[in-house]
Amino acid sequence: MHFRKSFQQYKAKKKAEMATQTELELQFMALSPNEAQNLLSKYEKTHNTNISSTVLPTDGFMDFMNRQGLRVVCPYCKNFSVYKHGTTANGKPRYRCNSCSKTFTPFVGTLVQGSSLSWEIWVYLVYITLHSTPLAQVKRELEQDYDTFMTEGTILAYRHKIQKAIIKCYPMPKLSGVVQVDETYFREGQKGSRNLINVAPTAIEKRVARTQQYTIPSKLGINSPEFACVVTGIDSSGYIAAVVTGLGKGSSQPFEEYFSEYLGNVTFLCSDGYEAYKRYAENMAIPHYVQKSEARELIKRAKKDYRERYKVEITDNVVRQNLYGSRQLDYIDNYQTLPYNRFEELKREKGLNLDRIDSFHRQLKRHINKNMCGVSTIYLPLYIGLYVFIHNWNIEHKSAPSSKADAEQILINLLTAGGNFISRTDLENQNILNFSRPTTKYINYLKLNRQHSKSIKTNGIHN
Ligand SMILES: [Zn+2]
Repeated sequence: MHFRKSFQQYKAKKKAEMATQTELELQFMALSPNEAQNLLSKYEKTHNTNISSTVLPTDGFMDFMNRQGLRVVCPYCKNFSVYKHGTTANGKPRYRCNSCSKTFTPFVGTLVQGSSLSWEIWVYLVYITLHSTPLAQVKRELEQDYDTFMTEGTILAYRHKIQKAIIKCYPMPKLSGVVQVDETYFREGQKGSRNLINVAPTAIEKRVARTQQYTIPSKLGINSPEFACVVTGIDSSGYIAAVVTGLGKGSSQPFEEYFSEYLGNVTFLCSDGYEAYKRYAENMAIPHYVQKSEARELIKRAKKDYRERYKVEITDNVVRQNLYGSRQLDYIDNYQTLPYNRFEELKREKGLNLDRIDSFHRQLKRHINKNMCGVSTIYLPLYIGLYVFIHNWNIEHKSAPSSKADAEQILINLLTAGGNFISRTDLENQNILNFSRPTTKYINYLKLNRQHSKSIKTNGIHN
């Protein structure tokens, strides 16, 4: 708490200083750009400094970090054994590493390198990232409350940088217990637009995407939007893991490869029975509850047939009982055979269904739809990653990270995780979705399937 108190004092002092500066400021603001530039050049010469290329956070920031007891670490070899080694031309402290003898300034290689923003503004930027605050509002608040001007593009760049750092700093948990898995798809809008639209894919599209091992089609024309695949899982405690897959041809990975690192002690896997999930459950000898995606439709049809034939209504339950054993609706693989009643009991008792993952997909789609408007699709993993982080934080802390204090704690973690060091190049090299061109064969395949699906609709033929 005393950090905040001393920060308040610091702010009050600054405010008092500002008041006496007002007149000078008014005079300065009245200058033409040329006059101001000349004055700044003179200032730089006499102070032997370079205002525009000041790359370290402000002194206030340093003080704050020191009070947090944060140790300076060598950005080259990550050694904590460092000593003070004079100051830079800008008057910032310089350190030398005992191990590799290189010199550096604090925060080199961290999230805040190259920024001269104050601690307060960094906390604010983390805060608005957590809240997905609209850029125009952030721009306004920075001007009004922090006397800082930033373009919306710059704010967006900061937002992406913070999203990346959070994803890197807070790895997704391992899911355990009863785990529901499924994919969801994000499609792009009209040709030329980089906006995402979140229409559920048709069954055909889902099948096509799956046969292509999550290849993302690209530039398919107006009627064939691009779509990205996100595989998600939710466990019995409510924790979520989500991986954006669907990299171009040649990089097809089976489910195990990209998702198994997020699966811990799974007692039941629940899915729609797609082969990749089946294979995984079989390999790991995990009981696998399968709920066919066409189950609802099938029950409806069976009830209708019965009604037409016998002029009597039957319940869902009767249909389920009749179809149990033929594996048309739902069943459990890698598990002992159960009588129907026991099967239904086990489903209720363990929560064997796909309800929670479906509900999460709906929330995720709403969120992405709202917050990625006008943002390039290549940033999809960042927005999904942040959303999952907030969701999991909510599970762990019983409330979402929403206060300035939460933002501050997260910022401290971002700067200190892994020994005060998140390398900037690490952040830059982090894998971002790479949309590649689809093969001609694939485009033709997709077209064919579309025609096929249209003919099904117009002719009313099933299968
Ligand atoms: Zn070193």
